[in-house]
Amino acid sequence: MVIDCKHVWDRISDFLDDTLSPDARDLVLRHLEHCEICSAILDSKRNIIILTADARVFELPMGYGERLHARLEEEISVLRREPC
Ligand SMILES: [Zn+2]
Repeated sequence: MVIDCKHVWDRISDFLDDTLSPDARDLVLRHLEHCEICSAILDSKRNIIILTADARVFELPMGYGERLHARLEEEISVLRREPC
């Protein structure tokens, strides 16, 4: 069975979420092997997901910012004490 681009676009979110059935996943993978358009779409979708995930990483636990800041101050003061 061969699926066209439209079918891939319908499934791309599920594909990235890894919620497709093995058969459907296989069909999408096989389509992606020969279709540059869908590969490009998949890449850009994936980048968006990575960016969103990164934004979540910045929601650090309470106090982490302060601790990190203190640590950086410490490192900087150590560096300053050492002769260049
Ligand atoms: Zn395609």
